[in-house]
Amino acid sequence: MKKRIISLVKLPDLILSEIYLRFFQEKNSLIIFNLHGLFYNKKEINQNLVDPQTWITKDQFHHFIEYYLKQNYTFVSPNDILNGLSNDKKYIMLTFDDGYYNNNYALPILKKYQIPALFFISTNHVKQNKCFWWDILYRERIKSRISKKEILYEQNLLKSKTSEEIEKYLIEKFGEEALKPKSDIDRPFTKTELKEFSKEKYVFLGNHTKNHAILTNYSTNEIKSQIIDAQKYIYEITGITPIAISYPNGNYSDEIIKISKEIGIKLGITTEYRKNKLPIDHKINNCMYLGRFDLSGSNNIINQCKLFRSDILIYTRFQNFLNKT
Ligand SMILES: [Zn+2]
Repeated sequence: MKKRIISLVKLPDLILSEIYLRFFQEKNSLIIFNLHGLFYNKKEINQNLVDPQTWITKDQFHHFIEYYLKQNYTFVSPNDILNGLSNDKKYIMLTFDDGYYNNNYALPILKKYQIPALFFISTNHVKQNKCFWWDILYRERIKSRISKKEILYEQNLLKSKTSEEIEKYLIEKFGEEALKPKSDIDRPFTKTELKEFSKEKYVFLGNHTKNHAILTNYSTNEIKSQIIDAQKYIYEITGITPIAISYPNGNYSDEIIKISKEIGIKLGITTEYRKNKLPIDHKINNCMYLGRFDLSGSNNIINQCKLFRSDILIYTRFQNFLNKT
């Protein structure tokens, strides 16, 4: 149902964006993108080891980067945002959520064009080398020939639980083994790989909580330990103290923002579909709820790139509404 509504509103938005970009100058802004896993090639998709909803192939990633470079976008790091972004340019920041090993595929492209990206790590996944729950659900349900629509429905139901409850549910249904990665496609970074990855010039690390916690399902003390423990672990492994958080599933509240700021986080990234208006100065603006767009590998990448440059988006309003439901 959700998907159908989205595709119905997306088409007029696409036409509108074409018209808008042809006749008007797009407003200078900061666009943040939310990427997750990267497929090496299309063959990997058919292995059904992960939920492919928000994944793209490494070639699609390449096209996406080249498109925004051609449109004269400046790629920025979280540090650049903290230093303040003036309003005379168009900016873009790349973010990757979760901490998939396959994020390595982005490295040659980042190096080639000298562009930074921010990688949000769920630290228990690295520590315990376990799969992400939505991938386990997808892999096991697809095996039993359950439809994608039904999987999505079950996934949404589980989002009202804590990650610990979800894992318990998965173990009861599919056994302890289900948590173990099956290949490089569905696994997180190892400790050593993360350490090596963090040394790369264009790699920035961020907090994605200890156990990919949808923080609005947790108590005050649990919220604190989810964020603090992730900070500590990332520091322990890499010597880096993250200054940014990506709220898992995009869920945040005034309390979550307050706690994050007390811990020393200066940038909070949501999943609200919007451009971020300039100037951005963390001392003036509240940078704790920055908007961010998803890319979908099953739709045309360039069309999506155009869509997100437009300043008139009906679809985004629907997307924000649907994200909240
Ligand atoms: Zn995530």
